[in-house]
Amino acid sequence: SNRPYIVGNWKMNGIRAMLAEARAIERGAGRYPEVQVGLAPPFTLVQAMAEQVGALETGGQDCHVAVKGAHTGDISAAMLADAGAHFVIVGHSERRRDHGETDGLVKAKAEAALAAGLGVIICVGETLEERDAGRAEAVVQGQVAGSLPDLADEGQAAKVAVAYEPVWAIGTGRVAAVDDVVAMHGAIGKTLAGALGEAGPSVRILYGGSVNADNARDLLAAEGVDGALVGGASLTAESFLAIVAAA
Ligand code: 13P
Repeated sequence: SNRPYIVGNWKMNGIRAMLAEARAIERGAGRYPEVQVGLAPPFTLVQAMAEQVGALETGGQDCHVAVKGAHTGDISAAMLADAGAHFVIVGHSERRRDHGETDGLVKAKAEAALAAGLGVIICVGETLEERDAGRAEAVVQGQVAGSLPDLADEGQAAKVAVAYEPVWAIGTGRVAAVDDVVAMHGAIGKTLAGALGEAGPSVRILYGGSVNADNARDLLAAEGVDGALVGGASLTAESFLAIVAAA
C-alpha cells in the first residue's frame, strides 16, 4: 500500500514552549524515514514550526476559500503556504460543529488549498446517532462526495487525503472497531473511485479518533488504512512517536 502517513492535529493547543516537543518529534521521527509525518499546530506556530522543524511537514488546521481580502480573523491557504506550511486540514468535525461548515464550503477550502500548492486532508465522520441508525456509511459517503475538490489534473489526487474520524471516537478514548474502520475505508474508496476514476486510489485514507500507542498497530495494519490523524496523543513526543513507530 501507500507510504504510511501519520499526522498530528494539535487543535487549539500549543504555545511557543511546545516547539521543543515538536523538535523532539522531529528527532524521533528521523528513525522512521519510511513514514511520512506531519504536524498541524495552531496558526500562531505554523511559521516557527516550519522553520525549526523542517524535516516534518507542517500544516494548518483550516483555511479560507479566498486568497486574500476582507475576512477578519481568517487565514488563506496562500498565507499558510507563504508561512512554510505543506498541507492543511479542512472540514474537521469540530469546525463543522463550531463554525457550521458544510460539505460545499469544505470542498471550496480543499480547492483553495490545492490551488495554493498545499496538500489537503479532508475530514469526514458520522455521529453516534447516525451510526446507531445504521446510516454511517451513507453519511460518510455523502460527506466525501460533497467535500472532495474538483481536481485540476489527476496528479493532484496524490495531494489529497481523506480522514475518517467518527465523531463519537474523537477525544473519547472510544476507538472504532478495526472491522468497522475497514468497512468504512472500503466504502470511502468506492466513493473516491466513482468520483475520480483511476485517480481514486491515489487519495490516501486515514483513520482518526482516539488513536494511541496501544491501538495504533492494529489500526494501521488494517486493510485500506493508509495512516492516522492523531489529536491528543500527538501532543507529546513520547505518545506520538509510539504511533509513528507502530506504522
Ligand atoms: P483524538 O486523537 O484526540 O481523539 O482526536 C482525533 C482528531 O480529531 C484528530 O483530528
